[in-house]
Amino acid sequence: MNIKEIYSKQRLFFNSNKTKDISFRIKVLKKLKAVLKENEELMFKAIYDDFGKSEFETYASELSLIYHEINNSIKNIHKWSKKKRVATGIANFPGKSYIMPEPLGVTLIIGAWNYPYQLSLVPAISSIAAGNTVIIKPSEVPTRTSKVLAKIINAAFSEDFLTVVEGGVEETTEILKNRFDKIFFTGSTSVGKIIYQAAANHLTPVTLELGGKSPTFVLSDTNIKITAKRIVWAKFFNAGQTCVAPDYLLVDKSIEVKLLDALKEEIEKCYPNYMDISDNYTRIINTKNFDRLCNLIDYDKLFFGGESNRNNRFISPTILKNISFEDNIMKDEIFGPILPVISFDDIDEAIKKVKEKEKPLACYIYSKNKIIKQKILEELSFGGGAVNDSIMHLTNTNLPFGGVGLSGIGSYHGKYGFETFSHYKSILEKSFWFEPNMKYPPYTEKKMKIIKWLLG
Ligand code: NAD
Repeated sequence: MNIKEIYSKQRLFFNSNKTKDISFRIKVLKKLKAVLKENEELMFKAIYDDFGKSEFETYASELSLIYHEINNSIKNIHKWSKKKRVATGIANFPGKSYIMPEPLGVTLIIGAWNYPYQLSLVPAISSIAAGNTVIIKPSEVPTRTSKVLAKIINAAFSEDFLTVVEGGVEETTEILKNRFDKIFFTGSTSVGKIIYQAAANHLTPVTLELGGKSPTFVLSDTNIKITAKRIVWAKFFNAGQTCVAPDYLLVDKSIEVKLLDALKEEIEKCYPNYMDISDNYTRIINTKNFDRLCNLIDYDKLFFGGESNRNNRFISPTILKNISFEDNIMKDEIFGPILPVISFDDIDEAIKKVKEKEKPLACYIYSKNKIIKQKILEELSFGGGAVNDSIMHLTNTNLPFGGVGLSGIGSYHGKYGFETFSHYKSILEKSFWFEPNMKYPPYTEKKMKIIKWLLG
């Protein structure tokens, strides 16, 4: 890889104005979809080899989101690219004003490992739709997946327009020396800070999609059975390696026992044979994360699960109870299949405790009580979330997806992705048929009176 050369080629290509043509962008998006469809088997296999993830989960959480983003972009690209008229005002009469979206230029997308296809390709789709050239640097952690992504994309597209560059810290550091027009990063908060600093050297705008500890409130009036079903699915999907997975539960003490039983029942129903190498349950990505997660299991507080096997990096769906905010597991994002449960007597106290932590990427509330739902939504700051569900908000591309505070900067998905990769150019257009003398010197008392009357 010669990143300087790729970067220069992309700069030249962008300057040729080819990407300004909307039919070109649509052609590329259609080709991308066709190429991915042709290679689905290869993609399923790579991700299975990397972390034992089932075809169903790969399709549901990766390919379907990518295809949806392509279809949605193609459908709306003309609408999103249109210039938008706005009011002009008396000071510029006669004239018209409008806002023109324009592509930013050469963009860099750095992906995380947990959903390795969609975290690289969904932002790439938005960037292409907005008319940019794209360099993707996927996470090097799932090695086979990274290779397959590079192979598929680089065989189908010219590197002066869309390319995948593989590598880890060293290569990314080298890539970041170039002056990009936009950097879109998904990953940890600590690396997000490094990316932000590298971008600052060139005043490059960034979108940072980071992580955090996403709380899930379960109130006494909830439907316990359905709540347990939705939480178990959201937490143990991809073995908890999801940025918006419920990190921990805050449960009203009066229903704690019932909820714990319902969670256990639901796990047993969803993963009856999970101790086998089951295609329904994902493994932990590497031994480093496996060891980190095993150290978080406090066996004195174990309610369910807690089994593990280092040889195949398996950790069973695990629930810890009697947890307090001071426990070790409450320090950092868990990012694995361990669910700590904290019970509360007083919702205000629980909200206060969450507020003392960094602003999370997501928050979930299970309750039928309008006042409490509203209270939590208004009092807590977080990226986005759901009421009576978890994770699923990210599948609605009409909702911007992103964090706040340490969980991220900016957002994407659907038209928000297009906006993220666009500059909105403001234009005032005048004609020649009328030229009032008002603003020109010499300034007279009469002019002063008129301007005060008009603009006061
Ligand atoms: P990570 O920060 O370790 O790595 C992300 C990317 O940064 C990788 O491509 C990696 O090669 C690169 N990188 C790592 N160290 C670097 C350095 N020193 N300099 C330059 N580049 C570097 O994150 P990860 O382990 O891949 O992902 C897990 C984190 O990502 C979790 O915190 C999770 O919550 C978060 N995440 C967020 C979202 C979201 O949409 N907000 C989605 C998925 C994951």
